[in-house]
Amino acid sequence: MLLRCVIVFFLLLFAAENCGAAESFTDWLHTFRREAEAEGIERITFAQAFSGVTKPDSRVLQSAAYQPEFTQQVWEYLDTRVNSLSIGRGRVMAARYHKVLCEIEKKSGVSASILLAIWSMETNYGLILDKKERLHYLPRALATLGWGDAKRKKFARTQLIAALKIFAAGDVSRADFLSSWAGAMGHTQFIPTSYLAYAVDFDGDGRRDVWNSVADALASSANLLAKNGWRTGKTWGYEVVLGEGAEKYQGQTKTLRQWQQLGFVRPQQKAFPRPDEKAVLKILGGSNGPGFLMLRNFFVLKKYNNSDFYALAVGLLADRLAGWPGMVQHWPKPPGVLSFAEKLELQTLLKQCGYYNAAVDGYPGKKTRAAIETFQQENGFKVNGKAEKSTLEQLREFSGNN
Ligand code: CA
Repeated sequence: MLLRCVIVFFLLLFAAENCGAAESFTDWLHTFRREAEAEGIERITFAQAFSGVTKPDSRVLQSAAYQPEFTQQVWEYLDTRVNSLSIGRGRVMAARYHKVLCEIEKKSGVSASILLAIWSMETNYGLILDKKERLHYLPRALATLGWGDAKRKKFARTQLIAALKIFAAGDVSRADFLSSWAGAMGHTQFIPTSYLAYAVDFDGDGRRDVWNSVADALASSANLLAKNGWRTGKTWGYEVVLGEGAEKYQGQTKTLRQWQQLGFVRPQQKAFPRPDEKAVLKILGGSNGPGFLMLRNFFVLKKYNNSDFYALAVGLLADRLAGWPGMVQHWPKPPGVLSFAEKLELQTLLKQCGYYNAAVDGYPGKKTRAAIETFQQENGFKVNGKAEKSTLEQLREFSGNN
């Protein structure tokens, strides 16, 4: 996979350089400056934003070229986002920001648990923002995409104009004007056009500071949801049991009462509190897993990020943060796949047995795989380096014997 990424990266760089033969990065910036001026961006603003920016950001092109080799299954996606760590940290944040979350909820009608879940999904409650080496200077990142990424040219130009408007308004200093490689900014990862449409100054210091003010960032997210039709006091959807032939109803809209009559019931015989609400059936992990009847708020969450997995993860994490029990049924995972709790256990055991010295974070990466290989090699197991059930069993047995 790494090799493929490297090849794609160099092809892209090569294409970009070739394209640069006709138009260099600085030529592109020069042309773009005239476009920005036509959009009302003053020359001084442009000069300040791009002062010292002479080369494209190669890390941005590298991220833009990345294509995951496998499509992630819904249970893998959820496991890494709705787990003991995200729930635990969410509860700490709920207590720390209790007052401001209550005020935002009162004003916007969006519950604290939904806002915490979005904050978790976007930046791990702001932790990602502390890793400055993973952030980019926003004008340079977007200019790089506008110049060198054919797929995102139009997006980058639109976002860059919006970004320059934000800069001109004085909401952000140059030093704080950081983003993801694709231009998502601050605690709840607003792209510049969303910022212009929805960002609010909630803490009253006169600036809409989604980078440093948790209050501003969460209130801005709440405002986005409220303006897109969030229904206060309502949930996002219900987990249901799928019967024979459920697939043929996938994507259909009916009232919850009609769904119930067709056999789509909640686990543990729970009733639908408002049976006349309309809901759409989503089957996201095959017909042997749970189904979901999605309500209006699910589709409002998708305004934040247009992905069913994303909106489901926000909903499920919010439920857990609100103190509700979470999903009842299990996903039909293939045999051997570890749950998040088991991944933590595997890393903990590797650490205890002296094979692993990095973070116990539930994300088995290169270091975990290397540790597994050494462990297997030294103890006469078949070496595959895989974080899977059989490896966990080997480790349990080994640590029990030591
Ligand atoms: Ca503010």
